[in-house]
Amino acid sequence: MAFFCVFAESANLPRNMIENSMFEEEPDVVDLAKDTTAFPTFPALDPDEITYEPRSSRLLVRGLGENDMDEDEEDCESSARLLGMSFMNRSSSHRPSSSPYTRQSPSRSCSRPTARTMVACVLFLVIVASMTMVLYFLPGCTFTKDGCPKRNKTTPLELVYPLATNGELFPWTQLRLPQSVHPLSYELTLTPDLDNMTFAGIAVINMSVLHNTNRIVLHGLNLNISNATFKIGDGPASNVTVLQYKANQQIAVKFTEYLKVGQYCVLTLTYSANLSSTYDGFYSSSYTDKSGTKHILAATQFEPLSARKAFPCFDEPAFKATFLIKINRKQNYTTLSNMPQDEFERTSVNMSTYLVAFVVANFSPISKNVSGTLVSVYSVPEKKEHTEYALEAASKLLEFYNTFFDIDYPLKKLDLVAIPDFLAGAMENWGLITFRETTLLVGKDSSPLEKQVVASVVAHELAHQWFGNLVTMRWWNDLWLNEGFATYMQYLSLQEVFPELQAENLFLSVRFRVMDKDALISSHPVSTAVVTPEQVEEMFDSVSYEKGASILLMLNAYLPGEQQFRKGIIQYLKQFSGSNTETNNLWDSLTQVSTPHQNVSEMMSSWTSLKGFPLVSVSRKGDEVTLTQEHFLLTPANASHTSSLWEIPVTYVNDSCSVGPECRQNFLLKAKSGKLKTPVPESVKWLKLNYQNTGYYIVDYGDDGWTALINALSTNVSILTFEDRASLIHNMFALSRQGRVSFRRVLSLLNYTYKETETAPVTEALLQLNNIYRLLEKRQEFDLMSCMKTYILDHFGALMDNQTWGEEENLSKQELRSALLSMACSLEKENCTQSANDMFKQYVSNQTRRIPGDLQQVVFSVAAQSRTDWLILYDMYKQSTVDAEKRNMLLGLASTQDTQLLAKILNEGLKGDVIQTQELPLIINTVSRGFAGYLFAWDFVQVNWDRLIEKFLVGSFAIQSIIKSVTSPFSTQAHLDQVKAFFSSLQERGSQMRSVQEALETIRLNQLWMERNLSTLRELLTKIQSQPQKEEPGVSH
Ligand SMILES: [Zn+2]
Repeated sequence: MAFFCVFAESANLPRNMIENSMFEEEPDVVDLAKDTTAFPTFPALDPDEITYEPRSSRLLVRGLGENDMDEDEEDCESSARLLGMSFMNRSSSHRPSSSPYTRQSPSRSCSRPTARTMVACVLFLVIVASMTMVLYFLPGCTFTKDGCPKRNKTTPLELVYPLATNGELFPWTQLRLPQSVHPLSYELTLTPDLDNMTFAGIAVINMSVLHNTNRIVLHGLNLNISNATFKIGDGPASNVTVLQYKANQQIAVKFTEYLKVGQYCVLTLTYSANLSSTYDGFYSSSYTDKSGTKHILAATQFEPLSARKAFPCFDEPAFKATFLIKINRKQNYTTLSNMPQDEFERTSVNMSTYLVAFVVANFSPISKNVSGTLVSVYSVPEKKEHTEYALEAASKLLEFYNTFFDIDYPLKKLDLVAIPDFLAGAMENWGLITFRETTLLVGKDSSPLEKQVVASVVAHELAHQWFGNLVTMRWWNDLWLNEGFATYMQYLSLQEVFPELQAENLFLSVRFRVMDKDALISSHPVSTAVVTPEQVEEMFDSVSYEKGASILLMLNAYLPGEQQFRKGIIQYLKQFSGSNTETNNLWDSLTQVSTPHQNVSEMMSSWTSLKGFPLVSVSRKGDEVTLTQEHFLLTPANASHTSSLWEIPVTYVNDSCSVGPECRQNFLLKAKSGKLKTPVPESVKWLKLNYQNTGYYIVDYGDDGWTALINALSTNVSILTFEDRASLIHNMFALSRQGRVSFRRVLSLLNYTYKETETAPVTEALLQLNNIYRLLEKRQEFDLMSCMKTYILDHFGALMDNQTWGEEENLSKQELRSALLSMACSLEKENCTQSANDMFKQYVSNQTRRIPGDLQQVVFSVAAQSRTDWLILYDMYKQSTVDAEKRNMLLGLASTQDTQLLAKILNEGLKGDVIQTQELPLIINTVSRGFAGYLFAWDFVQVNWDRLIEKFLVGSFAIQSIIKSVTSPFSTQAHLDQVKAFFSSLQERGSQMRSVQEALETIRLNQLWMERNLSTLRELLTKIQSQPQKEEPGVSH
């Protein structure tokens, strides 16, 4: 009976407990204790009590020996249960493997056992009891109350409570907290000492007991707890011992008597800690003002897992509570927190710990009242004049979101604070959003491109106040619910509120880039099970952000009518306001409001549960068009990777109507292949799928299809929208990278670009060509580089020459100009470098003459190639207080080809005095792109690895970016071996990161591409160089 009942009970586990298992095929939590009816004599245990851990085949017993049962009865009964479980788990390996979750299917025999079952159960218990006796007397380890000295590591049954720092057994083994006790409210009193870089704290945590339990387990890391008291209800407070288990970043209190369901209790902890010297937790930062005075400040960054470094807490997003935060400060400082400063109100909303924030600094604000909310922008005093644009953007966007979501922003105030040294772009803490200076501060005369950066980031963070803060993902596996949404809303709101900022080009290019990453075998599904801190950190990548946003765009474009998508998200926000959700909750809300009814859940679940994306191939026979889908992977994969099937909302246009939205036709491709419902007569010359690239898939048109499109484009560029032209270029390069089409075919498509003047297709083509050019450079294929240069200048030279160097108001033209001139100057096109040098000289002699924002990077990069000008630029960098300009100067400085200067700038970035360490990933990226620096940067990263992961944390976005930067220039076996050797030597210091797998795969792909294409490239480019004018399009495959 135990066997079946236990088996059935596991079906009732909360979905997330199963999903979050590290082992997808084998759910590792078997919830015995909930099933109290099966063992009526057994007191209701904490449902988190007993766990089977498949990785090590060890059984974990929790809380046994600590309840009020008779000891013998307890040992016997628990052993029986354990053996039942153990038997079950072993047998589960023999079960039919049709579903990984077979074990969950409820067994009906449990509810009303037949006589035969009863006999079987009794027999089973007898066997179990005998086995228990045998095991008990076996040498090695068995169940004892005192735990198990690890005498024999191969013993299958072993009690594995870890040891707390004081030597006692720590009563919990998992990384996720038990569910038996939930926090209701926190009262935090903090006293930071910025002179000594420490702080003292008192945390009063009110909790309610949801299941009987004899311990409270919560998070806390590097906190020196000096006193702890505990009380139940209004009872007296008594001192308790707090156990700490550092490996899991947890603390716990054990009780001799069980806490009972429904009780309220209060844990008060007095502690002290050091302010962090990294970018997470409660950390200190500093800046030097114009007069040379250094100012210290302190700020927080808790997402994802660092609130535990500032105060003891239940540091998982589903443990929401209210917060009352008091910060003692010296007179010359102001303090900011989620609620209005110095009034110390309790938060009016339940929130997750990662959204708590506080800042202690001498900042000054500008403010404005927006629909009952006081919006303020804070910066260091001397940059106050750069805050106006952010205030205006935040005010407009707040009003937009209040209306769009049909829910008013719930807090009385909203602060946006620019922190001088801050790693993330910004952080959406509820009511106190923190930013990098570069993402919040712009001068009055800044260009639209600089304003676009600020408006985008503000739009993203404000969207989080609803998506993330009001409704929060239950666990980090669904991080995309926060980040994909905020990213999508950022582009959507910008297009509505600031159409002049033309965010559509940016959104299109980020969609291309995330597909490049998602086409790797080492990619991951949007919703991915995560457990360890490193895995949680790694979720902060472009798949959660940009792929999340891309699939939302695809859904919005697919749902009929303007407002369906919006109605669905309003429904979702209202239904789950204040609570936590999983991906399905969102799809269900969208399904509910759809008219006519659409099964959104069915359509979208493939996009969140499968990694990668489909390639749709088109074939035409008579008037029949067949579409076939397959998983698009750059690395050839075995069959298990190619069985993925998506429900693809395909859109298409044809030669008779191809530009306006009315031309768009739809087809839902659910199966491996399908025929378009509407016949396409042979007189239709071509089809273009994925209208405006709103779908998250790529398309192969086959030989004839491509030829027809290429011919059509070379006759008339404007037969397709600019998004469609850019997507043809992107898809073609992707197919060539995979080896499906030849590079000859790529060049035949690019022939049309003589006539292209739109930003998106030009920038996409330049980016792809530049990638190849840079790889050739690193392989020292200098002859080929020279051919490639001729090719690029031949195709884009006229457009490059057309660009002006004055102020330009149109943002899209700025983007185009910036891309073209960067390319021209990096190829040392003479009129480009000359103009850039002239501009720099003028700027040095008269700094009131601003260099247009979009040209700064080009100008500074050209100047930095001369040692004298580099040093001038370096001095200017130290003086400048305009953040966007400063960043462009840094990009210039890092692009020098002088290795001594490269060493200087890398080391300054690591030291953090002149150049803030937050900029180091950017510096490493720029250095790695250059010929002089790429090996140097790789060396730098290896030598300084431990310092890097101390600053940026294993798995973090910064570390992901650093790994990608230094490894992506490689395309040889020797470098592949080096990279492999280095990362595998790191072990727990980073060898397990997904970005390492991505790096290795990318190098292999680069290597493969070179082997496959080098000779073709040589032949083609030489031919083109000897006859530079336009080739006939449509060269065969
Ligand atoms: Zn975000």
